[in-house]
Amino acid sequence: MAAADFNSLREYMVKSQLIVRGIKDERVLEAMRKVPRHLFVGDSMLHRAYDDMALSIGEGQTISQPYMVAVMTELLGLEGDEKVLEIGTGSGYQTAIIAELSKEVYTIERIAALAGPAEDRFRSLHYENVHIRVSNGTLGWPGESPFDRIIVTAGTPKVPEPLLQQLADQGILVAPVGDRFSQQLTRFKKTKDKLIEEYHTPCVFVPLVGEYGWEKDSI
Ligand code: SAH
Repeated sequence: MAAADFNSLREYMVKSQLIVRGIKDERVLEAMRKVPRHLFVGDSMLHRAYDDMALSIGEGQTISQPYMVAVMTELLGLEGDEKVLEIGTGSGYQTAIIAELSKEVYTIERIAALAGPAEDRFRSLHYENVHIRVSNGTLGWPGESPFDRIIVTAGTPKVPEPLLQQLADQGILVAPVGDRFSQQLTRFKKTKDKLIEEYHTPCVFVPLVGEYGWEKDSI
């Protein structure tokens, strides 16, 4: 398929999946128009890259549905100056969208076989503001904290305490919180010693595995 065809698939994705469902942040829509989602899926999924669904990326993991990526990004309320922490790099697609809209992105993936290809994508697409490491993201990235924004792209029974500690004052954290097979997108805003919680759309994410997430044995 030619590059122009992917461009028009992307334009159609933005109109038919995002705008009609209420995504309004123009910067988010622009990033979704720009980032070549087809380069974040394997060859066998290429023809479905712009479909309205999550897709397998191997290792039992998925790249989120475009709409879910847009909702989560919109909830982060990025203006361009933020230092962001992402837990669950996966394909790196959500990372790239955030990299378009913020200053620096620190992203953590626990599976090296996914982090490697994601890092290659960041390099070839020239995302110099993305920093990736392989580790247990439920512990956060203490050496780089505090973060203005934190996004967790795997389902968790509750938000890992280390992440709340690494969130800056006035910071926003977005995570799918709930049980193993269904969660609710939740936004937390930290103001001094208070945490304000707001509930958004129901969702289904693969589990956040590790201390402060789901025990490995329960998967
Ligand atoms: N945002 C991704 C979606 C990835 S799915 C994308 O756009 O493609 C969730 C990812 O979280 C998986 O790759 C999984 O391996 C990873 N993950 C699960 N538990 C983790 C943990 N404790 N630390 C870091 N990554 C984790």
